[in-house]
Amino acid sequence: MAVPRILIVGGGYVGMYTALRLQRRLRRGEARVTVTDFDSYMTYQPFLPEAAAGNIEPRHVVVPLRRVLRSCEILSGSVESVSLADRTARFQPHEGPAVTIGYDYVVVAPGSISRLLPIPGLSDHGIGFKTVEEAIHLRNHVLGKLDLAASTPDERVRRRALTFVFVGGGYAGVEALGELEDMAADACRYFEGISRGDMRWVLVEATDRILPEVGEDMARWTVQELRKRGIEVRTRTLLRSAEHGHIVLDDGQEFDAETLVWTAGVKPNPVVAAGDLPLDEKGRIKATAYLRIKGTDFAFTAGDAAAVPDLTRPGMLCPPNAQHAVRQGRRLADNLLATMRGQTCTPYRHRNAGSVASLGLYQGVAQVYGRQMRGFPAWFMHRTYHLMRMPTFNKKSRILMDWTLGLLFPREIISLGALQRPREEFKFAART
Ligand SMILES: Cc1cc2nc3c(=O)[nH]c(=O)nc-3n(C[C@H](O)[C@H](O)[C@H](O)COP(=O)(O)OP(=O)(O)OC[C@H]3O[C@@H](n4cnc5c(N)ncnc54)[C@H](O)[C@@H]3O)c2cc1C
Repeated sequence: MAVPRILIVGGGYVGMYTALRLQRRLRRGEARVTVTDFDSYMTYQPFLPEAAAGNIEPRHVVVPLRRVLRSCEILSGSVESVSLADRTARFQPHEGPAVTIGYDYVVVAPGSISRLLPIPGLSDHGIGFKTVEEAIHLRNHVLGKLDLAASTPDERVRRRALTFVFVGGGYAGVEALGELEDMAADACRYFEGISRGDMRWVLVEATDRILPEVGEDMARWTVQELRKRGIEVRTRTLLRSAEHGHIVLDDGQEFDAETLVWTAGVKPNPVVAAGDLPLDEKGRIKATAYLRIKGTDFAFTAGDAAAVPDLTRPGMLCPPNAQHAVRQGRRLADNLLATMRGQTCTPYRHRNAGSVASLGLYQGVAQVYGRQMRGFPAWFMHRTYHLMRMPTFNKKSRILMDWTLGLLFPREIISLGALQRPREEFKFAART
């Protein structure tokens, strides 16, 4: 009899943790597991702001799937559609023809992508903050703008280079802004003629508060702290236009900025709409509390792309965060195995523990099991919590080394923006 095939779409939090658990619990010859992902690594997203700030080497916040999932088949490329009706998925490797993969069980966990709005200039000038590549780019970009500002006699060019706009005041936006501003303020001392006060950092948020993940007190305190650092926090404000880098806000403000970071929410990865998966009104895959795709007994889903009922808050759905994704991945693997073995499945239940966020070196804000923390204790908690959660001893050790070296030596202030154009030098040589 053929060995059943389990196909996992997406090797992020849900995909990797599901595969790890299956790898550990599957009996020899019981099933083979195939994991597909654009990249061959899982990104630990809560550490992206620290990677962007240069506190952690970016390679240390990603986990190579081929190293940790030794018993699984890893395919790098893009799943273009998943069909439940004929139990197949269309897979496109990075090059060459697409292939159809048949499966017996499927786990659909492609996560989310940035939710853009039709704002003129946004897609041309904005950048998101979800991937390690975006974090690396932003670090190089911000340092590159300091270089530019220190080297130009043109006041207009300098002002534009030193203006940084972030749209979206959730934890991704606030942490990214907090860490990058802290890094830039630290770097200023090496750039002649630029001080912290010469830079303009603006946080634009459509609702009346930032950080909905923590209580109102903590959010208010965070706004005060950011303002003390000279950061403009503009709540109840919308970005109207960003054409040619000219920022127009709906409160009447207009200015030029070369940096526009969009962190105003996420939406399910569009691949979920490409097949016959049942979707809710927000485009998420309809899931049961057993993490099965509604109406099936062989297809599973979880994470940012799924609408999973939150049994601790009847009538509500689990929020899209890593806390749930990790736990759902493990529960999903157990339920998939139970299904294969004809055993009873267990519903997913987890009460949200809270949130921790860093705002730059030694500054943070946290709300965990109703307890509020701010400043150094919250920052310390952010680091310890995420270090404990970071997969593999190897990556934990490397991150700890990065932090230790950061205590002994100043941060690197080199902009390696040319990394994105590695052949320029060679092409120049060919021309001359
Ligand atoms: C900057 C930032 C900070 C965050 N901080 C926190 C935090 O402090 N606490 C917290 O709880 N949460 C945090 N989150 C949220 C958390 O990271 C996500 O909720 C979590 O990653 C969701 O897991 P997932 O498995 O659903 O998706 P992901 O981890 O995003 O994994 C999806 C995977 O699917 C792959 N994929 C997508 N489409 C395809 C396709 N068509 N074919 C093949 N592969 C595909 C992607 O490459 C990706 O690897 C943060 C997020 C960001 C962006």
